[in-house]
Amino acid sequence: MTLGRRQFLKAGGTCVAGASALALGFTPPKAYAGDSRQYKLLRAKETRNNCTYCSVGCGILMYSLGDGAKNAKPSIFHIEGDPDHPVSRGSLCPKGAGLVDFIHSEGRLLYPEHRAPGSKEWKRITWEEATDRIARLLKEDRDKNFIEKNEKGQTVNRWLSSGMLASSAASNETGLLDFKFARALGMLGLDCQARVCHAPTVSALAPSFGRGAMTNNWVDIKNANVVLVMGGNPAEAHPVGFKWVMEAKIRNGAKVMVVDPRFNRTAAVADFYTPIRAGADAAFMLGVVNYLLTHDKIQHEYVKAYTNAALIVREDYQFEDGLFSGYDADKRIYDKTSWTYERDEQGFAKSDPTLQHPRCVLNLLRKHVERYTPEMVTQLTGTPAKDFEHVCAELARTSAPDQTATFLFALGWTHHTSGAQIIRAGAMVQMLLGNIGMPGGGMNALRGHSNIQGYTDLGLLSLRLPGYMNLPSDKQQDIGTYLKETTPATEVANQVNYWHHTPKFFVSLMKTLWGEHATAANNWGYDWLPKWDRSYDMLAYFDMMYQGKVNGYIAQGFNPLAAMPDKNKTAQALAKLKFLVVIDPLATETGSFWQDEGKYNDVKTEDIQTEVFRLPSSCFAEENGSIVNSGRWLQWHFAGAAPPGEAWQDSRILGTIFTKIRDLYRKEGGACPEQVLNMQWNYRDAEEPLPEEVARECNGFALADLKDDQGRVVVKKGQLLPDFSVMRDDGTTSSFAWIFAGSWTEAGNQMARRDNTDTGLGCTPGWAWAWPANRRILYNRASLDPSGRPWDPKRQILEWDGRRWSGADVPDYPVTAAPGSGISPFIMQPDGVGRLFGCGGMTDGPFPEHYEPTESPLQSNPLHPAVTYNPVARVLTDDRARMGHVKNFPYVATTYSITELFRHWTKHSRLNAIIQPEQFVEIGEKLAGKLNIAAGDRVKVSSARGHIEAKAVVTKRIKTLNVMGHDLDQIGIPCHWGFRGATKKGFLANTLSPAVGDANSQTPEFKAFLVNVEKV
Ligand code: SF4
Repeated sequence: MTLGRRQFLKAGGTCVAGASALALGFTPPKAYAGDSRQYKLLRAKETRNNCTYCSVGCGILMYSLGDGAKNAKPSIFHIEGDPDHPVSRGSLCPKGAGLVDFIHSEGRLLYPEHRAPGSKEWKRITWEEATDRIARLLKEDRDKNFIEKNEKGQTVNRWLSSGMLASSAASNETGLLDFKFARALGMLGLDCQARVCHAPTVSALAPSFGRGAMTNNWVDIKNANVVLVMGGNPAEAHPVGFKWVMEAKIRNGAKVMVVDPRFNRTAAVADFYTPIRAGADAAFMLGVVNYLLTHDKIQHEYVKAYTNAALIVREDYQFEDGLFSGYDADKRIYDKTSWTYERDEQGFAKSDPTLQHPRCVLNLLRKHVERYTPEMVTQLTGTPAKDFEHVCAELARTSAPDQTATFLFALGWTHHTSGAQIIRAGAMVQMLLGNIGMPGGGMNALRGHSNIQGYTDLGLLSLRLPGYMNLPSDKQQDIGTYLKETTPATEVANQVNYWHHTPKFFVSLMKTLWGEHATAANNWGYDWLPKWDRSYDMLAYFDMMYQGKVNGYIAQGFNPLAAMPDKNKTAQALAKLKFLVVIDPLATETGSFWQDEGKYNDVKTEDIQTEVFRLPSSCFAEENGSIVNSGRWLQWHFAGAAPPGEAWQDSRILGTIFTKIRDLYRKEGGACPEQVLNMQWNYRDAEEPLPEEVARECNGFALADLKDDQGRVVVKKGQLLPDFSVMRDDGTTSSFAWIFAGSWTEAGNQMARRDNTDTGLGCTPGWAWAWPANRRILYNRASLDPSGRPWDPKRQILEWDGRRWSGADVPDYPVTAAPGSGISPFIMQPDGVGRLFGCGGMTDGPFPEHYEPTESPLQSNPLHPAVTYNPVARVLTDDRARMGHVKNFPYVATTYSITELFRHWTKHSRLNAIIQPEQFVEIGEKLAGKLNIAAGDRVKVSSARGHIEAKAVVTKRIKTLNVMGHDLDQIGIPCHWGFRGATKKGFLANTLSPAVGDANSQTPEFKAFLVNVEKV
């Protein structure tokens, strides 16, 4: 007999009860045994879900009571780890362990509320009143300020005076509705958490490998021989995922190395730790590149076959004194024309397989990095020379084909003005070592929020479309121009260049957006997409708001007052809005930005004329849907209870407001009503779309019979698409996000699969579904040499059977392309190879370069004193005036997360509030001694933008460094407290950081800025 989990609990519960009774000496008559109360879990309903916090995506089992009984609403009373989950295997970290307290937090919003302009209080209102008023306000603002044509008379159909922030933990299905809602209104001020999180990862990894995601996955970390953790602290921020690092260490003898400004909890269990100055990571990584090249520690065959090392760069490409060729100093941008290859008569890139040509990529790279000597690296970073060389030597040993290193990084690499370039430098190291595509290798971007990968995939960013396509600009007035400019030409003969299918992905998206209204005659509704003239990313948009150019804003599952840099500026910006709509399960600081909280939020309430709505939404435990973990797994979860009080699911809130706006347009007309009314919103109930129907829409359908080359029907009209390979550009397929095609097929919901069979090397292709095409290790063909032999037989994940590729993982490669075909493994790249030279993929250079943070402790950059900072990082005028100088702010501050708290959410959860109740900052012993600060003293940390106060933790974990011959002290600032929640009130840490972002993605520089510290 096999027992199911519930049956096992029943049997086990009976045994436990019996054993306890006997142990206590009771021998009750049988009748009493029958009367005893049943073990609570046995009466409970068990529901599968995933932890809502970080992107490890741990499996959880939620237990609820009350279901089925008359008038009883289910209530979740217990949550534990799902033992079947291949990543978490039953574990939960302190955040996951406190999930029940989040669900039942006193901070949960229970009914809609309204704050009138100038008022000091919330007033309870009905959903009808709230949604009627919001629909009316949005329509009025749109009608008044909609821009149908720009000053050149071009059709742009955009609306700039209202915007929206989308969540990072809501489901993909909510994300799809967010996108349709915002774009149907013509909004360009649309952004999501990725902007303040991992956007530089996409900016760096996509030009390097073809896709911007974590290359491998959590479990695969166990296959590594060396683990470099830099720009992240997974033992604290991703504790359950981190156990795969320990698995690598214990079972695989892996050496774990940590490079970080603080001796953090990851360092505490690592084999090796060395400190670094915050903001100097690119110099460190470029020093590693120089070391590998000068010590000839690269995997030659891999580099030659699978990177662009041999391709020849144009003669007019140059790098001199900190600037690449094509710099326009007035506009602070590059003309990237010279950042490409020399071409032959057919337009293909020229190459020199002997690697002798002076302008082949490898030789240009040698020249570029020769300045990053160990001495220069040591001086810039403060890392001791012998430590730097140790890291280089450990990494260098993985240039052997049978050794791999994995790089784990997170916001410590993204939160810089040159964040994308740091990540690019890391990617180059891994290419030179032959570690991309290998089990146990990779560039493993540890995503933050539980579905921020999904929200990035769905294109919820100002200038993006789903599936990593770009929203057209106003210069792309017709679909032909747009597709020509966004579909890359093949650059090396015989390569896959999968992006050449862009027209199929784009037209399928347009059919999803505009349905029957999208026809060949109207270019699939191309004109109804809003066209952009510049970026309206969060930094730019809040600056517009600060200048009084924005009237309305929706913050859904996002707390910008806490998440944006320069909190005081953000508060002033919000105060200039006419209306703000906050959709959230919790009472956030943003919703309360107008409330006077004394020193924590010092505002004059009566002067703030913003009308504010606070709409209670469901949380993860109260909805069905999918979220994408860091390893690109789409995992389906189920609701275990209804939202509390009068709270609604996000889909109902969006659906109701959107339906009301459409009704108003139908009745009254208004600005460009076609954009609003033609958006396909054909759900069973327009006011409350079901996640299941939205998930199928996201996958896509055949809109006519689809036939193969021989005329055989491969997908019937009306059926779900089996994958993206069947997509068409003639309007006969629909799909919202082409990379998600295959997630819900005629075989059912692939995201809900639960087969955790390990097919080899920790691969579990039967669990959930990974984009693209269920591949678990991206670029996995690169784990074998061109003739099809694995570089390391112990890591063979694919094999060729004479006809097809198969193996433990799904091939990321044409399955019938035989070994020796010459087709290279980076199938998304126009040249088929990993790019050491990034060509025009980045805004700030085809090779990475070290530039100082915008607020630097150095007077100038020793590498090129005339170009100290990233020359194309955008510093807006208002923000430039809010920058500080080392004379007044002599210490480098860096913000970070701790194990017990997740951003600004878990402070609402009682368990987490108990274990980390009060705000603190970390100060090294030497500096504390100098400033006469003892452990537990209150200190004031100030920057040019404001100050915070907190308790001092005086620590050995942060050492004084020697940088360019001078002592340099760093201050550690955890970012979790605020003036709402169950912890003691605290200051928002982002009061201190500057509103300047990464040059490629405008992700704020939270990790390196200048402060002063005083004892209070
Ligand atoms: S916070 Fe992350 S590691 Fe912790 S339980 Fe949740 S998903 Fe797992």
